[in-house]
Amino acid sequence: MSLPFLPFTRPSIDEETIAAVADVMRSGWIASGPRVLAFEAALSDYCGGRPVRVFNSGTATLEVALRLAKVGAGDTVITTPLTWVATANVILEVGATPVFVDVDPVTRNIDLDRIETAILPNTKAVIPVDLAGLPVDRDRLDAIAGKHNLRVIEDAAQSLGASWNGNRIGSTGDFISFSFHANKNLTTAEGGALVLPTDIDPGLCERLRLQGVKRFPDGGMDVDVLGGKFNLTDIAATIGLGQMKQLAGFTTRRRELARRYFSRIDPALGLGLPVADFSNSNWHMFQVLLPAGADRGKFIAAMKEKGVGVGVHYPALHLFSLYRAMGFSEGDFPHAERIGATTVTLPLFPSMQDSDVDRVCEALAASLSETV
Ligand SMILES: *Cc1c(COP(=O)(O)O)cnc(C)c1O
Repeated sequence: MSLPFLPFTRPSIDEETIAAVADVMRSGWIASGPRVLAFEAALSDYCGGRPVRVFNSGTATLEVALRLAKVGAGDTVITTPLTWVATANVILEVGATPVFVDVDPVTRNIDLDRIETAILPNTKAVIPVDLAGLPVDRDRLDAIAGKHNLRVIEDAAQSLGASWNGNRIGSTGDFISFSFHANKNLTTAEGGALVLPTDIDPGLCERLRLQGVKRFPDGGMDVDVLGGKFNLTDIAATIGLGQMKQLAGFTTRRRELARRYFSRIDPALGLGLPVADFSNSNWHMFQVLLPAGADRGKFIAAMKEKGVGVGVHYPALHLFSLYRAMGFSEGDFPHAERIGATTVTLPLFPSMQDSDVDRVCEALAASLSETV
C-alpha cells in the first residue's frame, strides 16, 4: 500500500481559526474592518510595538514601501537575482531600475561584500531577501545602508518567525515587508504586512493602500495621492490572527524537521546543503542543490513517482525574458545562476511527521541514482 502524496508544503489551519472565519462571514462585515485592526495590533505587538499595516499581498506591500521611500523614475534599487520575481518586479512597477548583486554561494542571499561596488549616485534603496527564511546579516547590512544613506526595504516574505542575533525579524531595521501567501510560514491565503520606520506617516501608508482616500469626521473625503487597491479583508485577517497563535510552534517544528534532514541526508549523495542555522532561520524551505550532472526535470519526476512533491525556488530571475530584454544575460551572476539551475525544495511544513522526512530521504537517494 502506498502512502498519500507528500506535497512540498501545506498550510496548517486549525479548527479554532476555521470557526472564527465562519463567525466573521456571518457577522455582516467581511471586508476591511475590526479584524484587520486587531491583526495589525497583534503584528505590531510581535514587532516590538512598531507600526504595522496589512495589505492584500506581499507584492503590494513591497510596492507601497518603495513609494513611501520615494523611489521612482531615475532611481536604482539594489537587490538579489535569486528570489521570487516579485522582489524585482516592484522596482520596475514604481519606474525605477533594479541593480542585481550576485549571491553568497553559502547563504544563497545577496553577497554583502559586493553591495558597495554596485552603489551608483542614483541608488536610493536596497531590498535584501531572506531566502528560505535564513536572514541576511542585519548588522552588516544596516551599516552599509547607513554609510551610503540608502533606505532598506527588507523583503522578509519568507522570514516571519526568524530572528537575527536574538531580535525578531520585523522588530529592527527600516521598512520590513512580510507575505502571507498560502505557502509562507504564516498565511492569510493571500496577504502581506509592512512594518514602518519612525519617519514615515502611517496615514500616508493607508492612503497608498486604498485609492489615496482621506476621510473626515463630517463624512467628507479628499484624495491627495494616487493610491492602489491593496486592502486586506477581515476574513483574511481572521485567518492571520489564528495563525499568529501558532507561529512559535510552527517555527519550532520546522527547525526540528530541518535538523532531521541534516541527520538523514547521506553526505555521499553529493548534495549542496543549506546553512545549518537553528537559531536565526525559520526554515521556510529546505533546499538542496543537485550534484553536477543530475537532470533536475528527471529528478522531480522520479520523486513525484515515489509520492514526494518537490519545488523549484527559484531560477535566477535576470534570465527571464522580461529581464533579458533589459540587457541581462547568462554569466552576469554566476552563483545565482548555478544555484537557480540546480536547487530543489524538499517537503517541509509543520504538520509533517518525522517519518515523512525519512521517506523523502529514501526517495531522494533512489531518485538521484536514477537520474545522474
Ligand atoms: C512570496 C514572496 C513575495 C511576494 O509575496 P506575495 O504575497 O505572493 O505577493 C515576495 N518576495 C519573496 C521573496 C516571496 O517569497
